[in-house]
Amino acid sequence: MMDPALADVPTKLFLGGEWRDASDGATLEVDNPATGEVIAKVASASIADGKRALDAAEKAFPAWAAAKPRERGEVLRKAFELIMERKEELARLITLENGKALPDSRAEIAYAAEFFRWSAEEAVRAIGDLYRGPSSGARILVGHKPAGIAVLITPWNFPAAMATRKIGPALAAGCAVILKPASATPLTMLALMPILEKAGVPKGIISVLPSKQSGKLVDALLHDDRVRVVSFTGSTEVGRTLLKSAADNILVPAMELGGNAPFVVFDDADVDAAVSGAIIAKMRNIGEACTAANRFYVHNKVHDVFAKKLADRMGAMKVGNGLEEGIEVGSLVNAETRDKVVELVDDAVQRGAKVLTGGSIRNGPGYFYQPTVMVDVPEDARCFQEEIFGPVAAIARFADEAEAMQKCNATQYGLVAYVFTKDLKRGLAFSEKLDFGMIGLNRGLVSDPAAPFGGMKQSGIGREGAHHGIMEFLETQYISVEW
Ligand code: NAP
Repeated sequence: MMDPALADVPTKLFLGGEWRDASDGATLEVDNPATGEVIAKVASASIADGKRALDAAEKAFPAWAAAKPRERGEVLRKAFELIMERKEELARLITLENGKALPDSRAEIAYAAEFFRWSAEEAVRAIGDLYRGPSSGARILVGHKPAGIAVLITPWNFPAAMATRKIGPALAAGCAVILKPASATPLTMLALMPILEKAGVPKGIISVLPSKQSGKLVDALLHDDRVRVVSFTGSTEVGRTLLKSAADNILVPAMELGGNAPFVVFDDADVDAAVSGAIIAKMRNIGEACTAANRFYVHNKVHDVFAKKLADRMGAMKVGNGLEEGIEVGSLVNAETRDKVVELVDDAVQRGAKVLTGGSIRNGPGYFYQPTVMVDVPEDARCFQEEIFGPVAAIARFADEAEAMQKCNATQYGLVAYVFTKDLKRGLAFSEKLDFGMIGLNRGLVSDPAAPFGGMKQSGIGREGAHHGIMEFLETQYISVEW
């Protein structure tokens, strides 16, 4: 029997405000990771469809760019309200196509909707400056213009939030967008389109193009002179490719890439608070998050008690089909992701790590992996170098602050780090020396629409959320005025 959340879900391309089959008739299959069943066949956009979406965006852009900021803000505010009215159905849809448990999906929908509310409020605050040239005497009038057409590319791990974090500020700024969702999870964004239409987003201002030929489609879009911004969330590897394409047309790049987050527990930390923070930083989204704690560094003095408490909590979490009430840990998104987790745990064990809980897959359909805690993980274990993207906490000890700092910063990633200590002065001083764009100090969650989300080094370029998010979609222009 079909799940009610799938009953009315659109499966065509949303192109210039209309629902269309792909020009070449191609489709892609979406499955439910928890059961392996195909739940939908979705139109798969061709390069020609990309061009059509650009034609529609080009036509719609001038009027949207000229609309009063308050009007754009009201549309986004309405979108926030409409999403919240349908949050349960949308959360179910995320679980169906992504596999995460309903509590994770519900939290994602609330987080995703907040980007529209926040952007509604930001739409009216893209203010300018006025200076006086110190020597010329001219007045320097600084304002902002919508950057133009933006191509947005999003991953499967947060099918709603990673997209609304881009759509919200782009629309607030007055841009038109073409969104390419991940092939594994296109349904959530397609389902959002009737909501945005109802909220008042004009035809052509947003198109959604799922595609099984992502590389070719995006490359063609980025090489079209009408595009001005490329905003990507995904792996560092794909981000690097897109930056090269963006260079050809000198596009503004916004890149939210991979992470390798350290989670430091000092000797003076409140261990129970650190364990609760670790559960959030590790287990939110089954660990399939760029912000997931990837390397736990725990001071010798509190190591054993922290590891035991974390293992007890993680070992007690209920794993299963994310649609069932009471389930906390759903299915990973696909076999590839699950197999990588298996490989990384096996590698660590071969190098001497000890498994305190978990350490195995769950048999049967779906891609379930037991919540796992490992200790004595050596620094050269692959799980300390690569994103685990699964429910595995890998723990190593440290003896002093200098050693912890050296370990934390010894990575090419710089997205987020977590620090637990009761001494705020020590925590702030340590945080300032970390080469990470975001720090959770005595907190296991940093994601917040009001905060500038983004990474240093190979974790990305630019920031999303806060006031910074809208700036990615605005060009600065100054007029030198003879007063
Ligand atoms: P991914 O493989 O890089 O894919 C992300 C998106 O890029 C998908 O829509 C994908 O389409 C598309 N894509 C793949 N190859 C492409 C190409 N050659 N040209 C243009 N587009 C291409 O990443 P993922 O596996 O979906 O997501 C996991 C990664 O995202 C992790 O590394 C995670 O850390 C990162 N992430 C970062 C943030 C952040 O804010 N920093 C947030 C969430 C996730 P297909 O699905 O069709 O392949």
